[in-house]
Amino acid sequence: MSADEILTPMMVQYHQIKEQHQGEVLFFRLGDFYEMFEDDAREVSRLLNLTLTKRNGQPMCGIPYHAAKTYIKRLLEAGKKIAICEQISLNQDGGKKLATREVVQVITPATVIEDDYLDAEQSSYVLSISFQKQGIAVSYADITTGEFSLRTVAKDDHYGSLLSVLEQIRPREILVNEDDYFLYQDFQGLLDAQQAMVSKLPPWRFSIIDGYSLLCNHIGSTSLKAFSLEEKDHRLSSAGALLWYLRETAKTSLNQIESFTVVEENHFLHIDEASRKSLELVSNTSDGSEKFTLFSAINATLTSMGTRQLKNWITRALTDVDQIRERQRWVEMLVEDRDELSRVRSILKQVLDIQRLTTRIAMNRQVPRDLTGIAQSISAFFHLVDERYQDLLPTKLEEMQLQTLLQLASEIQKAINDQWQGPFEEGKVILKGYDAQLDTLRKTKTGGKELLDSYLQQVKEETGIPTIKLASNKILGHYMEVTKTHAAKVPATFYRKQTLVNAERFTSDALIKLEQQILQSAALAEEREKEVYESLVSKTKDVQQMLLSISSFLSDLDCLQSFASTAITHQYTKPSFAEEDVLILEGARHPVVEQHLPPGEFVPNDLTIKSTGKRFCLITGPNMAGKSTFLRQSALLVVLAQIGSFVPATKANLCVVDRLYCRVGASDNLARGESTFLVEMQEAAHILRTATRHSLVIVDELGRGTSTQDGMSIAYAMMQKLLSMNCKTLFATHYHELARIDTSAIQLLTLQVSEQGGEVKFLRRVIEGIANSSYGLNVARMAGVGRDVIKQARQFQRQHFAEYDFAAMQPDLFSAATEGDESSYTAFDTNESEVIDALESFNIDQSSPLEALLFLKELQEKL
Ligand code: ADP
Repeated sequence: MSADEILTPMMVQYHQIKEQHQGEVLFFRLGDFYEMFEDDAREVSRLLNLTLTKRNGQPMCGIPYHAAKTYIKRLLEAGKKIAICEQISLNQDGGKKLATREVVQVITPATVIEDDYLDAEQSSYVLSISFQKQGIAVSYADITTGEFSLRTVAKDDHYGSLLSVLEQIRPREILVNEDDYFLYQDFQGLLDAQQAMVSKLPPWRFSIIDGYSLLCNHIGSTSLKAFSLEEKDHRLSSAGALLWYLRETAKTSLNQIESFTVVEENHFLHIDEASRKSLELVSNTSDGSEKFTLFSAINATLTSMGTRQLKNWITRALTDVDQIRERQRWVEMLVEDRDELSRVRSILKQVLDIQRLTTRIAMNRQVPRDLTGIAQSISAFFHLVDERYQDLLPTKLEEMQLQTLLQLASEIQKAINDQWQGPFEEGKVILKGYDAQLDTLRKTKTGGKELLDSYLQQVKEETGIPTIKLASNKILGHYMEVTKTHAAKVPATFYRKQTLVNAERFTSDALIKLEQQILQSAALAEEREKEVYESLVSKTKDVQQMLLSISSFLSDLDCLQSFASTAITHQYTKPSFAEEDVLILEGARHPVVEQHLPPGEFVPNDLTIKSTGKRFCLITGPNMAGKSTFLRQSALLVVLAQIGSFVPATKANLCVVDRLYCRVGASDNLARGESTFLVEMQEAAHILRTATRHSLVIVDELGRGTSTQDGMSIAYAMMQKLLSMNCKTLFATHYHELARIDTSAIQLLTLQVSEQGGEVKFLRRVIEGIANSSYGLNVARMAGVGRDVIKQARQFQRQHFAEYDFAAMQPDLFSAATEGDESSYTAFDTNESEVIDALESFNIDQSSPLEALLFLKELQEKL
């Protein structure tokens, strides 16, 4: 081993710690720097563009500790986790002994709580997945709010249900059993395609038994009965791994998680992944942003807690009518009492993100400003709340608790300097006038200069040395300096401390005493300031549960006022819920499209699906007529109604929908390398397998991804099947031929189009009936395609397509749908086509009446 390779004790310590943190970048604290060594150094210097240096032949790089946040943020964005290793005790014996070091926190995308790394408007979930024989156990938690939920997801083809939950929760990090991950390739592919960071844990972390004891231990109980969890509940596998991981990375007790919620699948309106995407609830399909989504159309929240909650509500619409009506009651109250609404809005504007502030305090990662933020929000809460809001509080707060909160807020406001932005720093945090003891100590400390000045004056007079100076440095402390010329005048009571070329430095008993007094009060003032601050932090921790209650109240109220404000601004009405399975919408509008059109331009439409009779609507109409808009608006109105919001309609009466399907094109899946047709068929199969009578099924242009013949056959067969299932269905197609089948059980709807002189005008009005032609070529012409091309297309159409012969079809074509049946097409009569061609090319303007008559005769003979 060369001299270079002999490890220093510090590097031995580094390796011991690194051994425990293989998957993370280790930030190793050395004085004022975090250093990275070896592979970590190589990787980080590359990722962050830092200079790589060498220590004992090994690469290293460092960053100043006070600037660590920016680097951490960039590393998180690059998909890295960071273990922060601090010096717990400083070097002893003047630096000879090694400092004790410990990892105090592992920073991952989902376990950060500092604002610098969080998006204020997004929840920050970490989700854990474990395959069990009962299904897929999924648990998820947001440590910034303390929410911790467990549920089971069906293990279906292509993990459709799991995808739907992932889409709903949108975790920032996913924990997975490494065996499952490596065993199932399709599962691996699915996880890797997620935006979240995927952390693989060893299989034994997902033990049900350990999960049970971990959860019991966490809440300090011997059983989990209170949360409806039995000892052997399979969901404990993912929950245990999740809780272990959170504790391990956050390195705190996670007091904010104080209960576990078992989510039953039917608690929420079930919307599968593809439908969620195509409905563009909280992100759009074009660039994944919030633009043109339902969320952005209805969002009028004023706090970031409210914004996050609104997204949660939209992705988790309710199925319990009582819960929906409860939300409606609040919205209605605020819509009717505009003064109250504006009072609530103006107070909410002063509310900060107490959910996240409280969490930071619970985890000891607060800065002083967090306390003032809490105090400000508590005061806002007290301004806001009165008797009528009692029911909205998750737990009723007793009079005494309210008093404690008020007292705390007023103390914080009196004590803490809200102008100070940074972490605790002596002299910066506690205001003058709050603590008498601190004020006295500070006075002595700052009075120090005056004491020293008057002592110097006294010495000058006593010694008669006018040039004597009083100064201090780190080694000597305070001293008096006398030039050599005056050295003889120095009294014998002074002690010499240092001799310089031209001067001597002295001290005296009086100066030593004075110095001690000043130093002591500085240290005592610092200690006292910390003590006062810590006591306020601890008082805030004591009311953590109340603060979380208040934050949940405020975020709910923010969503409700947002519903009310949107209802007023955009003229929404309260939907009513019926026992019978109906969906009746009058004057309904698309919430997103209408906001992007000039006021009054959106054409409202009706939809009536009763509990019996024609529950299947077949909507025909040319492209661009407004079919998709009509379909989606019906689905979005159901979502809005089931989250408790008012809806853009003049009247809405509906029954709770259990599952919502919305298939509108499938082209976006092409990016995943699957054929459009295959995806369409998988999705169609999924609907047919899982929809119930209480579901709403929306299908737009099924069969687009294949030949006309196959597409039409599939569309036809699917229609038959949905008809037999009797679920509420809106089925749009440009295969108008589909409307020629037996339609006794079908509502035929079409979008009104007026055609004048070959110009098509879309009226956007849904009426009863069938579209008489697809107008596709007219639309092409309107879009600027040249006349010659249109003419050729028309000729081709005449020669090659005729009406589809449904009489020749078997009722159940679904299984054999992909096989072509050429005989289904009847050839177009060539004579007829010649006649039309001749008619089109005949120039009436330049023909005499006789020529016209002869032409007519010629045509007659051709037929
Ligand atoms: P289709 O599905 O029939 O091809 P779309 O629903 O995509 O048609 O609608 C085409 C365009 O017409 C949309 O971009 C939309 O702006 C407009 N539109 C649709 N419905 C309405 C309506 N009811 N009122 C006003 N404009 C509408």
